[in-house]
Amino acid sequence: RAKEEGRNTYRLYRAEMHVEDHQHLALETALRNTAETGEGLDVHYQPLIDRDSGEVKGAEALLRWHAPGLGEVSPGDFIPLAERSGLILPLGRRLMQLVAGQLQAWREAGLTPPRVAINLSARQFWQADLVDEVRRLYEAHGLPPGQIGFELTESTLIDQHQQAVATLAALRDLGCHIAIDDFGTGYSSLSYLQELPVTTLKIDRSFIRGLGESRGSGAILAAVTGLARELGLRVVAEGVETEAQLEALAAYHVTLIQGFLTGRPVPGATFRERYLDRTTA
Ligand code: C2E
Ligand code: MG
Ligand code: MG
Ligand code: MG
Repeated sequence: RAKEEGRNTYRLYRAEMHVEDHQHLALETALRNTAETGEGLDVHYQPLIDRDSGEVKGAEALLRWHAPGLGEVSPGDFIPLAERSGLILPLGRRLMQLVAGQLQAWREAGLTPPRVAINLSARQFWQADLVDEVRRLYEAHGLPPGQIGFELTESTLIDQHQQAVATLAALRDLGCHIAIDDFGTGYSSLSYLQELPVTTLKIDRSFIRGLGESRGSGAILAAVTGLARELGLRVVAEGVETEAQLEALAAYHVTLIQGFLTGRPVPGATFRERYLDRTTA
């Protein structure tokens, strides 16, 4: 009987694995298709707001994917898949084209879009021709220096220090802002950070969420903002959802805010209506 149960359990287990493998495969096949055709890919833009003036100081470009036949898939699901499969390279290239095209269109319509930050995965950052690609992108779309910037995580920058510094410096030469994303969740040592030509620290949402709740979050915030001031870096708080969090951030002199409270990620057309049209007039 135990044997029988064992067999049933085994069968159940296999059936589940099968469903998961099947879904996984379907997703990867769909993603591969999208990487080739661009079908179902879209970009949302989330504003970066100066809490004192209310001005839009920038935007983050966030990839959105409507998988044909499967529906909306969240970046938290398809980005890791794209990274593992290598599809992040063609997908990332498409995103850059979409963003640059959008910025060019806005500028040609007489609007003044803010700097837009693009997330780069490690595999993209370590591509030998990244800087050339970015340079070509600027040229092809007639973008002014610094119009597009990048966000990288600490783990991406931790290897091959000298090469990372060289690539970042080349991007800085194009005027790009470079942010360390999800800051505080990785392992960068302070001396390491000092040598990286980055411009911005984006404090991870997990420290903002805990504000006013756990003492630890405040301590980390105080340390990070103090460090940033010493190094001359901008600080952005990401994931700000409540007025209470916004209030609490004032004590740490954090004025650049990105979160649902100040603006959710929206399609380009909505971003234009809400944040760009008023700045022309
Ligand atoms: P991230 O770069 O840290 O982006 C911020 C994420 O936080 C976005 O999720 C954004 O929608 C979300 N967010 C912003 N404000 C709030 C808030 O107030 N509350 C909460 N709960 N969430 C907020 P999203 O768009 O789902 O993206 C998740 C991650 O996927 C990104 O984290 C980034 O690591 C990655 N990702 C997105 N687009 C791209 C891309 O084009 N290329 C690469 N390599 N990665 C991307
Ligand atoms: Mg980011
Ligand atoms: Mg982040
Ligand atoms: Mg993140």
